[in-house]
Amino acid sequence: MAEKSDCGKLTAAAGDLQALVRPAENAELWDFVRSWLRRFEKADGDKAAERFVCLWAAVMAWAAKCSPDAGRAHEESYLAHCLARDQKLAERFANLYKIDKDLRKKIDRFLALAPVFLAPWLQKSEIPEWDPAQDRRAFVTKALEKVPAESAARPYAPACAREHLLANEKLPADWAHVFSIVAQVRRNLFHGGRNYKNAGERQFLEPAMAILWEVWRFELPSGLLISRISWLRALLRSGFMAREAENRISLTDETEANRKYLQKLLTSGHFGMLKNDILLPNEPYIEESFWLRTVDSGHGSSEAGRADDLASMDTYMAGLVRWLNEAGIATELSCDGHGERKPSFTAADEESARLAAWLLNFRAPQFNQSGKTVKYAGAGPNPNATKPADRLKKMLDVAEWLAKNREDLKSIVASMRKVSAAKAPLKPEPAAPKEPILKTK
Ligand SMILES: [Zn+2]
Repeated sequence: MAEKSDCGKLTAAAGDLQALVRPAENAELWDFVRSWLRRFEKADGDKAAERFVCLWAAVMAWAAKCSPDAGRAHEESYLAHCLARDQKLAERFANLYKIDKDLRKKIDRFLALAPVFLAPWLQKSEIPEWDPAQDRRAFVTKALEKVPAESAARPYAPACAREHLLANEKLPADWAHVFSIVAQVRRNLFHGGRNYKNAGERQFLEPAMAILWEVWRFELPSGLLISRISWLRALLRSGFMAREAENRISLTDETEANRKYLQKLLTSGHFGMLKNDILLPNEPYIEESFWLRTVDSGHGSSEAGRADDLASMDTYMAGLVRWLNEAGIATELSCDGHGERKPSFTAADEESARLAAWLLNFRAPQFNQSGKTVKYAGAGPNPNATKPADRLKKMLDVAEWLAKNREDLKSIVASMRKVSAAKAPLKPEPAAPKEPILKTK
């Protein structure tokens, strides 16, 4: 969509800034941020307003350190425009919008409710609060009628909303527009008095907070985000035949099809590239959930693909199946359960299924085998209570264990196959010697 001149209002205060200047090392800042995030993460579900305030405090502290004009670092409206302008955040937003279905839905719904009006202005203009049971568009139209067309002040966000609506177009699903609404939701928390307790206002809180968190959290250093892992681990957990060679990650052992698939994932997630089968990541660590969401949107949906055809396998099962096959246990089908059912796979034959279960249960019994099928049963004192997200993570942990031990496991499986193979009948026992062998002296 062509940028309207009015959209420039969303970031005008940022001047000619293109990107915030990220602080290199700043222990003091991160300590401060951590204390707010702890409160943000701890607060329970119905304290959305408090959680939002904590997250906002962390983001603003960070933005103040990143803003080029230190003299204005205390001006929240200036910082908000700088944040809305920042290229990195905008790119990440666009990327997440592309690869994360759930987030995209959330953003679309959020934009469909826009614009968000300033609560004090609504009060002053005697416009009754929006009731979520009623049509939002009718409310918006009525409220906009109260804003004089020639007025420079825009008591709503995004500031270009009226122009978009008049042109009969959707609000652009980009970072600048969405962030301007997030900032407005925040303003209403401060200035709206009791208004945020109003059911209408509450509709904005959760999505505003979720979107801000999803886009911003990648700025946190790895110590603050525990799910950040090395690229080698991420690749092994997803079944890629990667190895470390001279401090680089090589994929020379991988099939051509999988290298192509990996390149596609790297491009779609803006993670970096493969060059001469060497991984050249943009950053040495990766937030695993981000990687997995990219895989989730990038793979096909055949349950019966070949074990080395990673592009056809479920996100959370590809690694486990690949490494089992590498260890010498062939599989036919696999399914990670898609967060609903329990992850399972079907081995090529019953003996392979028994071997697989035996291997996988080596550290702790957590898989059930029946016929050719092996199913994850759960872990801990109450296996049935294992949450879907924990089950899926477990599959990745198991994949990593298999990958790291694959050479040894391969010889164990080979030995076990020898043990269970049909043996030539034993030679008859030699006849007992007439004289006892042991003689006492
Ligand atoms: Zn606009």
